[in-house]
Amino acid sequence: MRPGAAFRRSSRYRPSLICWLFAVTTALEDCWRTRIAKFSRFLSTAANSTSIVRKISLACNHVKACAILELRCEPMQLFMPAKPQPNLDFLRQAISLATRNVTSGNGGPFGAVVVRDGKVIAEGVNIVTATKDPTAHGEVTAIRNACKALNSFSLAGCQLYSSCEPCPMCLAASHWARLDAVFFAASAEDAAKAGFDDEFLYAEFRKNASERLLPQAQLLRGEAWSSFAAWIASTNKIPY
Ligand SMILES: [Zn+2]
Repeated sequence: MRPGAAFRRSSRYRPSLICWLFAVTTALEDCWRTRIAKFSRFLSTAANSTSIVRKISLACNHVKACAILELRCEPMQLFMPAKPQPNLDFLRQAISLATRNVTSGNGGPFGAVVVRDGKVIAEGVNIVTATKDPTAHGEVTAIRNACKALNSFSLAGCQLYSSCEPCPMCLAASHWARLDAVFFAASAEDAAKAGFDDEFLYAEFRKNASERLLPQAQLLRGEAWSSFAAWIASTNKIPY
């Protein structure tokens, strides 16, 4: 090989190598230019926005590829309080209450506890037969006891642990009590096997009032408004 041949051979590849490097560099620059442009647009949009929530939402949108999609959640969910996590010990306590209630003869096999900040605020068992109160389900009893213990009509910040899936009445009571969460062990189907079938209630709710098993009729609607009018006009009411 003549002197300089190796250089000339390698030099033949130089133009293509330079073109390749140029192409890669340009592509990278374009990529980053696009990213920078997008980020600049985001910053200007955020700067023009008056709402901090909007800014946060925009920020979420901007990082959705690495955060939102990874977490598979909506942007605003990132800023919502974390869902209460169940503690199975409390659920076992509710089950134990339910089982013991059978031998006590106070009522059905249902027990519940209300928990706040990791501590049991109140317990409750089904005392329907003992108190002759058809509404004294385990969950309702626990809610009543918890409200007494806290001297409040709101159980916000509390969780209900029930030995069984709440019936419609107890589920409604849980909502009215503003509980944070309800955890239950046995299902409504399990309760039905033991003779506590509340499925018919859900079927009733789906019917029109005039078609329900329990006869219902609306009368004196106009006269009844006086109660609401008094409430609206009241200056010493306690909203709940
Ligand atoms: Zn119930």
